[in-house]
Amino acid sequence: MAFKQPHTASYYAASANHQTDYASLEGAQSADVCVIGAGFTGISTALHLAERGYSVSILEANKVGWGASGRNGGQMIGGISGENRLAASLGGDGERRLWEMGWAGHDIIRERVATYSIDCDLKFGYVDVAIKPRHIRDLESYYEQLQKFNFPHSYAMLTKSETQNLLGTDTYIGALRNDANGHLHPLNLCLGEAAAAVSLGATIYENSPVIDIKRGSKATVVTQKGSITADFVVLAGNAYHFLEPKLRGVLFPVNSFIIGSEPLSDDMVKQINPDDLAVCDPNYILEYFRLSADKRLLFGGRFTYFGSDPEVIKTNLIPRLLKIYPQLANTKFDFGWGGTIGVTANRVPQMGKLAPNIIYSQGYSGHGVNVTHLAGKILADTVGGTLEQFDVFADIKPIWIPGQHLFRNQMVALGMLYYKLVDRL
Ligand SMILES: Cc1cc2nc3c(=O)[nH]c(=O)nc-3n(C[C@H](O)[C@H](O)[C@H](O)COP(=O)(O)OP(=O)(O)OC[C@H]3O[C@@H](n4cnc5c(N)ncnc54)[C@H](O)[C@@H]3O)c2cc1C
Repeated sequence: MAFKQPHTASYYAASANHQTDYASLEGAQSADVCVIGAGFTGISTALHLAERGYSVSILEANKVGWGASGRNGGQMIGGISGENRLAASLGGDGERRLWEMGWAGHDIIRERVATYSIDCDLKFGYVDVAIKPRHIRDLESYYEQLQKFNFPHSYAMLTKSETQNLLGTDTYIGALRNDANGHLHPLNLCLGEAAAAVSLGATIYENSPVIDIKRGSKATVVTQKGSITADFVVLAGNAYHFLEPKLRGVLFPVNSFIIGSEPLSDDMVKQINPDDLAVCDPNYILEYFRLSADKRLLFGGRFTYFGSDPEVIKTNLIPRLLKIYPQLANTKFDFGWGGTIGVTANRVPQMGKLAPNIIYSQGYSGHGVNVTHLAGKILADTVGGTLEQFDVFADIKPIWIPGQHLFRNQMVALGMLYYKLVDRL
């Protein structure tokens, strides 16, 4: 993987509130905690720790928010992927505990945006749309869960014609609207949280790829020109790190891509998304979209491609978007970019220890905006000695994916083929 890279050419990078320019690490330093990776997992953990008075250093190979956190669909969706499997492992009141954990990230984001005045276009309103009758059944059973847990936010099942009116397309046969979910500018959230951590004393080093972690009662994290010795190390590189082969072999890298249109006219916005909702379909090779604050349509989907050429990305995604919105046939697309999602074989996020003082979290399987924020709190609690929530995840053994690290791209291509077949059923 290339290090010391600028941000990908995304809409988010083009509309970032500010550019970061943190120095790279030089010389031997020390901290209570050294965090590797400045995405949501790393920054969120660091901010929790800085709020509690720990000295924290964050080492980032590229720029703050350079990875998935600064490139994603910006959809803030409740729930933890693989929830059923986790609940089964907990027993007792496990289902309720997990349900509450699945929404905790939203509260953390909401609180931080308010506390640190983070300008990240946070908006509430979201629909899960259905394409096939079996999707409606899934949404109905999720609706029953919302009822069972007395969900305190507004939510409703929508008929085909209600969905059509709300989204200006006849692609979907129904939907579940949930106004606790929403959308945001992920890079600006990440930059804002990083600035908050720094204001509380954390130190960020950019362009500082970690090349080794020397274990011991204190661990030493090594970069090309420096090192940090710390009581605790938090590994938060997710799908973008190659530091620990043991962690790479339990994570599928899945590429997802997004195109960004020119700003749409008020008339068009009224036609296709007057309530400014984030939208996600239920397929494995899923499509997701929403409007940005300046009314661009940001449309995401997966296809098998390992490059980053905006024109290739547009060529693949525009026809898919036009199937949903033929009225956008004359719209220009200014952006096309992609990123890598860390997906686990059982969809359960992975948290664990590589040594008593080296902990990690990864594999949110596409639900990272919310769950990274929960993970940050759990990792910070773990540093502070509270293991209860950490153990919920650490007790699930990650499934080793044979050959993943050897046949990376072929595995991804095969996975895409398999899921395309499943979606057709
Ligand atoms: C295109 C796309 C769309 C998505 N859409 C959504 C969505 O709409 N909603 C949602 O909930 N989730 C979505 N996701 C998933 C979500 O973005 C991720 O789950 C989440 O951002 C992961 O955060 P992270 O901090 O763990 O990893 P990342 O944000 O990837 O951060 C890891 C960081 O570690 C750094 N790093 C790696 N190796 C080293 C090293 N050796 N030394 C130092 N630093 C290192 C990397 O440079 C990187 O900045 C999407 C992902 C992608 C790619």
